[in-house]
Amino acid sequence: MFIPSSRLQSVEESKSVKLSALVAKLKAQGKNIIALNVGEPTFNPNDAIISATQSALAEFKTRYDLVPGTNELREEIALKENRKKENILISNGSKQILYNLFQVILNPDDEVIIPTPYWTSFPESIRLASGRPVFSSGEDLDLDLSDIESKITPKTKAIIINSPNNPSGHIYSTESLTQLALIAQKHDLLIISDEAYDEIVYDGLSPFSVASISQDAYERTIQVKSFSKTYCMTGFRLGYLLAKPEIVQAVNKLQSHLSGNNCTFAQYGALAALKMDQSCVTEMVKKMEGKRNLAYSLFNELFPHKKPQGAFYLFPQIKNDDIDFCERILKEAHVALLPGSAFGAPGYFRLSYTASDEDLNTAYQRIKAIL
Ligand code: PLP
Repeated sequence: MFIPSSRLQSVEESKSVKLSALVAKLKAQGKNIIALNVGEPTFNPNDAIISATQSALAEFKTRYDLVPGTNELREEIALKENRKKENILISNGSKQILYNLFQVILNPDDEVIIPTPYWTSFPESIRLASGRPVFSSGEDLDLDLSDIESKITPKTKAIIINSPNNPSGHIYSTESLTQLALIAQKHDLLIISDEAYDEIVYDGLSPFSVASISQDAYERTIQVKSFSKTYCMTGFRLGYLLAKPEIVQAVNKLQSHLSGNNCTFAQYGALAALKMDQSCVTEMVKKMEGKRNLAYSLFNELFPHKKPQGAFYLFPQIKNDDIDFCERILKEAHVALLPGSAFGAPGYFRLSYTASDEDLNTAYQRIKAIL
Protein backbone atom coordinates (compact mmCIF):
# COMPACT_ATOMS: atom_id res chain seq x y z
CA MET A 1 0.00 0.00 0.00
CA PHE A 2 1.20 3.52 -0.73
CA ILE A 3 1.65 5.95 2.14
CA PRO A 4 3.50 9.12 1.14
CA SER A 5 6.77 9.54 2.99
CA SER A 6 6.77 11.90 5.96
CA ARG A 7 9.19 14.07 3.97
CA LEU A 8 6.57 14.51 1.26
CA GLN A 9 3.81 15.00 3.79
CA SER A 10 5.76 17.89 5.30
CA VAL A 11 5.27 19.95 2.13
CA GLU A 12 2.33 21.34 0.19
CA GLU A 13 1.93 21.22 -3.57
CA SER A 14 2.81 24.57 -5.15
CA LYS A 15 -0.35 26.69 -4.74
CA SER A 16 0.29 28.58 -7.95
CA VAL A 17 0.80 25.36 -9.96
CA LYS A 18 -2.41 23.96 -8.40
CA LEU A 19 -4.40 27.06 -9.33
CA SER A 20 -3.03 27.01 -12.90
CA ALA A 21 -4.41 23.44 -13.22
CA LEU A 22 -7.83 24.63 -11.97
CA VAL A 23 -7.83 27.56 -14.40
CA ALA A 24 -6.96 25.20 -17.28
CA LYS A 25 -9.87 22.96 -16.22
CA LEU A 26 -12.33 25.86 -16.10
CA LYS A 27 -11.14 27.09 -19.49
CA ALA A 28 -11.60 23.59 -20.92
CA GLN A 29 -15.22 23.73 -19.64
CA GLY A 30 -15.68 26.81 -21.82
CA LYS A 31 -15.44 29.45 -19.04
CA ASN A 32 -13.89 32.72 -20.17
CA ILE A 33 -11.27 33.01 -17.43
CA ILE A 34 -8.71 35.82 -17.46
CA ALA A 35 -5.62 34.26 -15.93
CA LEU A 36 -3.81 36.93 -13.91
CA ASN A 37 -2.30 34.19 -11.75
CA VAL A 38 0.49 33.13 -14.11
CA GLY A 39 4.13 33.72 -13.25
CA GLU A 40 5.57 33.95 -16.74
CA PRO A 41 5.93 36.50 -19.52
CA THR A 42 3.51 35.91 -22.41
CA PHE A 43 6.05 37.10 -25.02
CA ASN A 44 7.77 34.48 -27.19
CA PRO A 45 11.52 33.91 -27.00
CA ASN A 46 13.55 35.83 -29.59
CA ASP A 47 13.97 34.17 -33.03
CA ALA A 48 17.73 33.79 -32.41
CA ILE A 49 16.95 31.53 -29.43
CA ILE A 50 14.47 29.40 -31.34
CA SER A 51 16.69 28.95 -34.41
CA ALA A 52 19.78 28.09 -32.31
CA THR A 53 17.73 25.44 -30.49
CA GLN A 54 16.42 24.07 -33.80
CA SER A 55 19.95 23.95 -35.24
CA ALA A 56 21.22 22.16 -32.13
CA LEU A 57 18.52 19.52 -32.64
CA ALA A 58 19.31 19.24 -36.36
CA GLU A 59 22.99 18.76 -35.44
CA PHE A 60 22.01 16.03 -32.95
CA LYS A 61 23.13 17.89 -29.86
CA THR A 62 20.85 15.43 -28.17
CA ARG A 63 23.22 13.39 -26.03
CA TYR A 64 24.31 13.44 -22.40
CA ASP A 65 26.63 16.31 -21.65
CA LEU A 66 28.49 17.73 -18.64
CA VAL A 67 26.52 17.79 -15.36
CA PRO A 68 27.19 21.49 -14.47
CA GLY A 69 26.24 22.64 -17.98
CA THR A 70 27.89 22.71 -21.41
CA ASN A 71 31.34 24.27 -21.53
CA GLU A 72 30.17 26.85 -24.09
CA LEU A 73 27.24 28.05 -21.98
CA ARG A 74 29.26 28.25 -18.76
CA GLU A 75 31.98 30.19 -20.60
CA GLU A 76 29.40 32.66 -21.92
CA ILE A 77 27.81 33.05 -18.46
CA ALA A 78 31.31 33.61 -17.04
CA LEU A 79 31.78 36.49 -19.51
CA LYS A 80 28.42 38.04 -18.68
CA GLU A 81 28.82 37.71 -14.92
CA ASN A 82 32.55 38.43 -14.74
CA ARG A 83 33.21 35.10 -13.01
CA LYS A 84 35.16 31.94 -13.72
CA LYS A 85 33.68 28.69 -15.04
CA GLU A 86 34.24 27.01 -11.68
CA ASN A 87 31.88 29.54 -10.06
CA ILE A 88 28.97 28.47 -12.28
CA LEU A 89 26.54 25.56 -12.33
CA ILE A 90 23.48 25.29 -14.56
CA SER A 91 20.33 23.40 -13.52
CA ASN A 92 16.88 22.63 -14.87
CA GLY A 93 15.50 26.01 -13.89
CA SER A 94 16.43 28.07 -10.86
CA LYS A 95 13.77 26.06 -9.00
CA GLN A 96 16.08 23.05 -9.14
CA ILE A 97 19.06 25.18 -8.11
CA LEU A 98 17.25 26.19 -4.92
CA TYR A 99 16.27 22.58 -4.19
CA ASN A 100 19.88 21.46 -4.81
CA LEU A 101 21.28 24.21 -2.61
CA PHE A 102 19.22 23.35 0.46
CA GLN A 103 20.09 19.66 0.01
CA VAL A 104 23.80 20.43 0.14
CA ILE A 105 23.75 23.16 2.80
CA LEU A 106 21.35 21.87 5.44
CA ASN A 107 21.52 19.18 8.09
CA PRO A 108 18.25 18.10 9.76
CA ASP A 109 16.63 21.00 11.68
CA ASP A 110 19.06 23.61 10.37
CA GLU A 111 17.26 26.91 9.87
CA VAL A 112 16.96 29.32 6.97
CA ILE A 113 15.47 32.77 7.50
CA ILE A 114 12.92 33.84 4.89
CA PRO A 115 11.58 37.39 4.84
CA THR A 116 7.88 37.55 3.92
CA PRO A 117 6.33 37.79 1.43
CA TYR A 118 8.34 35.00 -0.23
CA TRP A 119 8.23 32.83 -3.31
CA THR A 120 6.20 29.72 -2.47
CA SER A 121 8.91 27.15 -3.22
CA PHE A 122 11.41 28.54 -0.66
CA PRO A 123 9.93 26.98 2.50
CA GLU A 124 9.03 23.73 0.76
CA SER A 125 12.52 23.21 -0.70
CA ILE A 126 13.92 23.83 2.79
CA ARG A 127 11.50 21.30 4.32
CA LEU A 128 12.37 18.75 1.62
CA ALA A 129 15.98 19.04 2.85
CA SER A 130 14.78 18.40 6.46
CA GLY A 131 15.50 22.01 7.34
CA ARG A 132 13.29 24.55 9.09
CA PRO A 133 12.07 27.73 7.40
CA VAL A 134 11.97 30.64 9.86
CA PHE A 135 9.85 33.55 8.68
CA SER A 136 10.49 37.23 9.23
CA SER A 137 7.64 39.60 8.40
CA GLY A 138 8.91 42.56 6.48
CA GLU A 139 7.67 46.09 7.04
CA ASP A 140 5.88 47.74 4.16
CA LEU A 141 7.20 44.94 1.92
CA ASP A 142 10.81 45.79 2.84
CA LEU A 143 13.15 43.80 5.12
CA ASP A 144 12.76 44.18 8.87
CA LEU A 145 16.43 43.88 9.77
CA SER A 146 16.08 43.84 13.53
CA ASP A 147 13.44 41.10 13.24
CA ILE A 148 15.75 39.10 10.95
CA GLU A 149 18.63 39.42 13.42
CA SER A 150 16.38 38.43 16.34
CA LYS A 151 15.50 35.17 14.51
CA ILE A 152 19.14 34.02 14.21
CA THR A 153 20.00 30.97 16.35
CA PRO A 154 22.99 28.60 16.43
CA LYS A 155 21.02 26.49 13.92
CA THR A 156 20.72 29.28 11.33
CA LYS A 157 22.64 28.53 8.14
CA ALA A 158 21.39 31.09 5.67
CA ILE A 159 19.08 33.97 4.85
CA ILE A 160 17.28 33.78 1.52
CA ILE A 161 16.13 36.93 -0.24
CA ASN A 162 14.45 37.60 -3.56
CA SER A 163 14.68 41.05 -5.11
CA PRO A 164 12.87 42.10 -7.29
CA ASN A 165 10.41 40.13 -5.25
CA ASN A 166 7.82 37.60 -6.26
CA PRO A 167 5.02 38.27 -5.21
CA SER A 168 5.40 41.97 -4.37
CA GLY A 169 7.49 43.32 -7.28
CA HIS A 170 9.31 45.28 -4.58
CA ILE A 171 13.07 45.95 -4.79
CA TYR A 172 14.93 46.00 -1.47
CA SER A 173 16.77 49.26 -0.90
CA THR A 174 20.58 49.35 -1.08
CA GLU A 175 20.55 50.48 2.55
CA SER A 176 18.54 47.40 3.61
CA LEU A 177 20.79 45.06 1.63
CA THR A 178 23.90 46.68 3.12
CA GLN A 179 22.55 46.11 6.63
CA LEU A 180 21.58 42.55 5.72
CA ALA A 181 25.10 41.83 4.45
CA LEU A 182 26.53 43.14 7.75
CA ILE A 183 24.19 40.91 9.77
CA ALA A 184 25.21 37.90 7.66
CA GLN A 185 28.88 38.76 8.21
CA LYS A 186 28.44 39.23 11.97
CA HIS A 187 26.76 35.81 12.34
CA ASP A 188 28.73 34.10 9.56
CA LEU A 189 25.69 33.12 7.49
CA LEU A 190 25.25 32.40 3.81
CA ILE A 191 23.04 34.73 1.80
CA ILE A 192 21.04 33.08 -0.96
CA SER A 193 19.98 35.74 -3.42
CA ASP A 194 17.24 34.67 -5.83
CA GLU A 195 17.68 37.03 -8.78
CA ALA A 196 15.18 35.45 -11.19
CA TYR A 197 13.79 38.92 -12.02
CA ASP A 198 17.03 40.92 -11.81
CA GLU A 199 16.74 42.39 -15.31
CA ILE A 200 13.00 43.13 -15.11
CA VAL A 201 13.28 46.50 -13.38
CA TYR A 202 11.58 49.80 -14.19
CA ASP A 203 11.79 53.56 -13.68
CA GLY A 204 15.38 53.65 -14.99
CA LEU A 205 16.70 51.22 -12.36
CA SER A 206 19.49 48.72 -13.15
CA PRO A 207 19.96 45.16 -11.86
CA PHE A 208 21.56 45.20 -8.42
CA SER A 209 22.77 42.29 -6.29
CA VAL A 210 23.56 42.10 -2.59
CA ALA A 211 26.75 40.31 -3.76
CA SER A 212 28.08 43.64 -5.06
CA ILE A 213 27.90 45.38 -1.68
CA SER A 214 31.31 44.32 -0.34
CA GLN A 215 33.99 41.69 -0.80
CA ASP A 216 32.59 39.83 2.20
CA ALA A 217 29.03 39.89 0.77
CA TYR A 218 30.40 38.69 -2.58
CA GLU A 219 32.00 35.69 -0.93
CA ARG A 220 29.09 34.63 1.25
CA THR A 221 26.32 35.20 -1.33
CA ILE A 222 25.06 32.48 -3.63
CA GLN A 223 23.36 34.19 -6.58
CA VAL A 224 20.55 32.22 -8.22
CA LYS A 225 19.63 33.34 -11.75
CA SER A 226 17.23 32.20 -14.43
CA PHE A 227 16.79 32.31 -18.20
CA SER A 228 13.02 31.96 -17.69
CA LYS A 229 11.89 35.54 -17.18
CA THR A 230 14.61 37.69 -18.81
CA TYR A 231 14.54 35.73 -22.07
CA CYS A 232 10.93 34.43 -21.90
CA MET A 233 12.33 30.87 -21.83
CA THR A 234 10.23 29.36 -19.02
CA GLY A 235 9.73 26.00 -20.77
CA PHE A 236 13.45 25.58 -21.54
CA ARG A 237 14.02 25.00 -17.80
CA LEU A 238 17.40 26.66 -17.40
CA GLY A 239 18.83 28.60 -14.49
CA TYR A 240 22.27 28.88 -12.92
CA LEU A 241 24.05 29.60 -9.69
CA LEU A 242 27.08 31.77 -9.03
CA ALA A 243 29.04 30.74 -5.97
CA LYS A 244 32.39 29.68 -4.58
CA PRO A 245 33.88 26.59 -6.28
CA GLU A 246 33.35 24.38 -3.20
CA ILE A 247 29.59 25.11 -3.28
CA VAL A 248 29.46 24.51 -7.04
CA GLN A 249 31.28 21.18 -6.56
CA ALA A 250 28.91 20.09 -3.79
CA VAL A 251 25.84 20.87 -5.93
CA ASN A 252 27.48 19.16 -8.90
CA LYS A 253 27.89 15.98 -6.84
CA LEU A 254 24.18 16.00 -5.96
CA GLN A 255 23.04 16.94 -9.46
CA SER A 256 25.11 14.12 -10.97
CA HIS A 257 22.72 11.70 -9.26
CA LEU A 258 19.56 13.81 -9.34
CA SER A 259 19.21 14.81 -12.99
CA GLY A 260 22.62 14.48 -14.66
CA ASN A 261 23.07 17.10 -17.35
CA ASN A 262 20.49 19.69 -18.31
CA CYS A 263 18.66 19.41 -21.65
CA THR A 264 21.55 19.66 -24.10
CA PHE A 265 19.86 21.36 -27.06
CA ALA A 266 18.00 23.83 -24.80
CA GLN A 267 21.40 25.05 -23.58
CA TYR A 268 22.26 26.07 -27.16
CA GLY A 269 19.14 28.23 -27.11
CA ALA A 270 20.36 29.82 -23.88
CA LEU A 271 23.81 30.35 -25.42
CA ALA A 272 22.16 32.24 -28.30
CA ALA A 273 20.16 34.28 -25.76
CA LEU A 274 23.37 35.51 -24.12
CA LYS A 275 25.17 36.15 -27.42
CA MET A 276 22.37 38.01 -29.21
CA ASP A 277 21.94 41.76 -29.24
CA GLN A 278 20.44 42.44 -25.81
CA SER A 279 18.29 45.29 -27.08
CA CYS A 280 15.36 42.84 -27.38
CA VAL A 281 15.54 42.35 -23.60
CA THR A 282 15.42 46.13 -23.14
CA GLU A 283 12.41 46.26 -25.47
CA MET A 284 10.63 43.46 -23.60
CA VAL A 285 11.23 45.22 -20.27
CA LYS A 286 9.91 48.47 -21.78
CA LYS A 287 6.72 46.70 -22.91
CA MET A 288 6.39 45.15 -19.45
CA GLU A 289 6.84 48.58 -17.88
CA GLY A 290 3.93 49.80 -20.04
CA LYS A 291 1.84 46.93 -18.66
CA ARG A 292 2.95 47.76 -15.12
CA ASN A 293 1.81 51.35 -15.67
CA LEU A 294 -1.55 50.28 -17.10
CA ALA A 295 -2.24 47.62 -14.44
CA TYR A 296 -1.15 49.92 -11.62
CA SER A 297 -3.29 52.83 -12.82
CA LEU A 298 -6.34 50.55 -13.05
CA PHE A 299 -6.02 48.48 -9.89
CA ASN A 300 -4.52 51.12 -7.63
CA GLU A 301 -7.85 52.91 -7.94
CA LEU A 302 -9.64 49.85 -6.49
CA PHE A 303 -6.88 48.79 -4.05
CA PRO A 304 -4.46 51.63 -3.24
CA HIS A 305 -0.96 50.21 -2.76
CA LYS A 306 2.75 50.85 -3.29
CA LYS A 307 3.89 50.98 -6.94
CA PRO A 308 6.16 47.97 -7.66
CA GLN A 309 9.43 48.67 -9.48
CA GLY A 310 10.29 45.19 -10.76
CA ALA A 311 9.10 41.68 -11.76
CA PHE A 312 5.55 41.63 -13.18
CA TYR A 313 3.21 41.56 -10.23
CA LEU A 314 0.97 43.88 -8.24
CA PHE A 315 0.53 42.93 -4.58
CA PRO A 316 -2.26 44.96 -3.04
CA GLN A 317 -3.49 44.61 0.52
CA ILE A 318 -7.20 43.97 1.08
CA LYS A 319 -9.34 44.02 4.18
CA ASN A 320 -11.06 40.68 3.50
CA ASP A 321 -9.79 37.13 3.85
CA ASP A 322 -7.51 36.74 0.83
CA ILE A 323 -8.46 33.13 0.08
CA ASP A 324 -12.21 33.89 0.13
CA PHE A 325 -11.57 37.02 -1.92
CA CYS A 326 -9.64 35.20 -4.67
CA GLU A 327 -12.23 32.40 -4.78
CA ARG A 328 -15.02 34.94 -5.15
CA ILE A 329 -13.19 36.83 -7.89
CA LEU A 330 -12.58 33.55 -9.74
CA LYS A 331 -16.18 32.36 -9.40
CA GLU A 332 -17.98 35.66 -10.00
CA ALA A 333 -15.62 37.74 -12.14
CA HIS A 334 -13.85 34.82 -13.84
CA VAL A 335 -10.47 36.39 -13.08
CA ALA A 336 -7.73 34.21 -11.55
CA LEU A 337 -5.57 35.83 -8.87
CA LEU A 338 -3.38 34.29 -6.18
CA PRO A 339 -4.03 34.81 -2.46
CA GLY A 340 -1.22 36.38 -0.43
CA SER A 341 -1.36 33.40 1.96
CA ALA A 342 0.41 31.37 -0.72
CA PHE A 343 3.36 33.73 -0.18
CA GLY A 344 3.21 33.96 3.61
CA ALA A 345 1.26 37.24 3.45
CA PRO A 346 -2.42 36.77 4.31
CA GLY A 347 -4.58 39.80 3.51
CA TYR A 348 -2.89 40.46 0.17
CA PHE A 349 -3.37 39.14 -3.35
CA ARG A 350 -1.00 38.81 -6.29
CA LEU A 351 -1.99 39.96 -9.75
CA SER A 352 0.30 39.14 -12.65
CA TYR A 353 0.10 41.79 -15.38
CA THR A 354 1.72 39.81 -18.21
CA ALA A 355 -1.73 39.45 -19.86
CA SER A 356 -2.81 41.52 -22.89
CA ASP A 357 -3.86 45.12 -22.28
CA GLU A 358 -7.38 44.13 -23.35
CA ASP A 359 -7.51 41.37 -20.73
CA LEU A 360 -6.14 43.72 -18.04
CA ASN A 361 -8.87 46.26 -18.86
CA THR A 362 -11.61 43.61 -18.92
CA ALA A 363 -10.38 42.09 -15.64
CA TYR A 364 -10.50 45.53 -14.04
CA GLN A 365 -14.08 46.13 -15.28
CA ARG A 366 -15.23 42.70 -14.07
CA ILE A 367 -13.64 43.04 -10.62
CA LYS A 368 -14.91 46.60 -10.20
CA ALA A 369 -18.43 45.44 -11.09
CA ILE A 370 -18.59 42.86 -8.31
CA LEU A 371 -16.87 44.82 -5.54
N1 PLP B 1 12.50 32.23 -8.17
C1 PLP B 1 11.42 33.02 -8.22
C2 PLP B 1 11.33 34.18 -7.29
C3 PLP B 1 10.39 32.75 -9.13
O1 PLP B 1 9.32 33.55 -9.18
C4 PLP B 1 10.50 31.63 -9.98
C5 PLP B 1 9.42 31.28 -10.93
O2 PLP B 1 8.32 31.77 -10.88
C6 PLP B 1 11.65 30.85 -9.89
C7 PLP B 1 12.63 31.17 -8.97
C8 PLP B 1 11.85 29.63 -10.74
O3 PLP B 1 12.12 29.93 -12.05
P1 PLP B 1 12.73 28.87 -13.04
O4 PLP B 1 12.75 27.55 -12.35
O5 PLP B 1 11.82 28.88 -14.22
O6 PLP B 1 14.12 29.34 -13.36
